[in-house]
Amino acid sequence: TTAPESQPFQAEVAELLNLMVHSVYSETDIFLRELISNASDACDKLRYEAISTPELIADGAPPKIRIAPDKKANTLSVVDSGIGMDRQELIDNLGTIARSGTKSFLSRLTEAKDGANLIGQFGVGFYAAFMVAERIVVTSRRAGSDQVFVWSSSGGSGFEIAQAGDEDAARVTRGTEIVLHLKKEAAKYLETYEIERVVRAWSDNIQFPIELVPEEGEPRQINSASALWQRPKSELKPEDYKQAYQQVAGAFDEPAMTLHYRAEGRQSYAVLLFVPSTKPFDLFDQARKGKVKLYVRRVFIADDADLLPAYLRFIRGVIDSEDLPLNISREMLQNNPQLAQIRKAVTGRVISELESLGEKEPEAFAKIWDAFGPVIKEGIWEDFERREKLLALSRFTTTKGEKRSLKQYVEDLKPNQTDIYYLTGESVERLKSNPKLESATARGIEVLLLTDPVDAFWTSAPLDFGGKPLKSLSQGDIDFGLMPLLDEKAEDKQDEAGADEATTIALIKDALGERVSDVRASQRLTSSASCLVAGGGAQDRMLERLLAMQNK
Ligand code: ADP
Ligand code: MG
Repeated sequence: TTAPESQPFQAEVAELLNLMVHSVYSETDIFLRELISNASDACDKLRYEAISTPELIADGAPPKIRIAPDKKANTLSVVDSGIGMDRQELIDNLGTIARSGTKSFLSRLTEAKDGANLIGQFGVGFYAAFMVAERIVVTSRRAGSDQVFVWSSSGGSGFEIAQAGDEDAARVTRGTEIVLHLKKEAAKYLETYEIERVVRAWSDNIQFPIELVPEEGEPRQINSASALWQRPKSELKPEDYKQAYQQVAGAFDEPAMTLHYRAEGRQSYAVLLFVPSTKPFDLFDQARKGKVKLYVRRVFIADDADLLPAYLRFIRGVIDSEDLPLNISREMLQNNPQLAQIRKAVTGRVISELESLGEKEPEAFAKIWDAFGPVIKEGIWEDFERREKLLALSRFTTTKGEKRSLKQYVEDLKPNQTDIYYLTGESVERLKSNPKLESATARGIEVLLLTDPVDAFWTSAPLDFGGKPLKSLSQGDIDFGLMPLLDEKAEDKQDEAGADEATTIALIKDALGERVSDVRASQRLTSSASCLVAGGGAQDRMLERLLAMQNK
């Protein structure tokens, strides 16, 4: 054995722990959910690794989770017989936060009132245990290893790591034992009824058995330990779905939409997906990774298998295939044709569910659109095949109002109007005072006011909806040709103007010279004298600016 070694926490971890210790979160219960969820992940990983290395579960003991309170010692233990951690894994996993966006999350947490909710969105996971414990001791044996290590910390700035003594090593035969030395104010978690309450509320749907080990009497299972997505819909209540969602997403909010079905046919699989009602903090991460979990016949395989396109990355849940081989490798996942088929079918289903929610429950859909619309719109740019469908799903602020669909836009077309018009800019207020709107407004023509950064991207593709091309008012020639002005007098003024047009244009061209590619008379304006526009086919000015910013 070697002497214990002290190591500092990564700066972000130290800051997070400091915040958790000094803020009063009402939802301390979640620490148990986080530990159980880690234990469950560890059991999942063991089952997965045992597919290729059956010796790992040669003892025949199926993975499970145990919770043991000890009033005399004032400790609560959460023990799993899952994959376990070796020395380096203990150091890396329990001393750093690998997730991107940690910095911005921490600054939000410092300011926020609803800390627990943010913690849930971020999933601070293991560190949540410091809300209730003054000291934590983790003893772990990586499956198949003959070495056991002990990680311990009282929060603060660091932790200690050491090889386990004989007694600890004999006790932890596989997996991880987490012993919480509870703070005084957290003593209630030593009561068995409290533990049962929290497990029922947050972790009932964990697939593995959770046993409560009372100080006296026999251990007993306190969760239902079934894969919820495999159960028939008729058996399930909204609360079951809510819990399953909060479990799988590590969230606190309600699901805004739940999709549960079983596909049979060329391939059989169960789908349980949720649209959250609040934005996760890392929605605009560079990686744009989804988090839907892939299972094969109830065995967890991967949570990074890109089961949905990036523009649906806010969706959480599980897809459980009956047909894929259990020993499918990560590399095989990438270009597996069966998986591609599932992805295609499920993507289509998600979009059509969103579509029908938009029709049947516009208010529920509006909430989803507010939170995730900017992400879904990435699909208009990326998913050529579903472009029209995604356009149909989109809602816009227009000169006529909010949350307008293109279907509504097209129904309200002016006589002789053949195009759908839009303007991109930074805010609706600024767009409304944009001189480029004048001529359209004067004709009563509706204009989409696009203010999300992503709007500059998808609009740079040639688009139409229901055979009506989308046209930018700040690009190329806009010909309102046969569409009359609402106000006759304005029309007269334009006719008069025509006479001097040629001379005026010649003068302006002279003055501006090379700085512009052309000077033209336009119907775009009614009261402003002139404006700058991008040439037809040239990139929209917003996109130019966005690209310029990113190239810096
Ligand atoms: P997350 O679960 O989101 O990755 P956590 O803070 O909850 O974040 O846990 C950090 C990491 O520590 C996990 O990803 C896992 O690798 C490791 N870990 C935590 N608890 C266990 C456990 N009981 N068994 C094995 N590994 C664990
Ligand atoms: Mg976790």
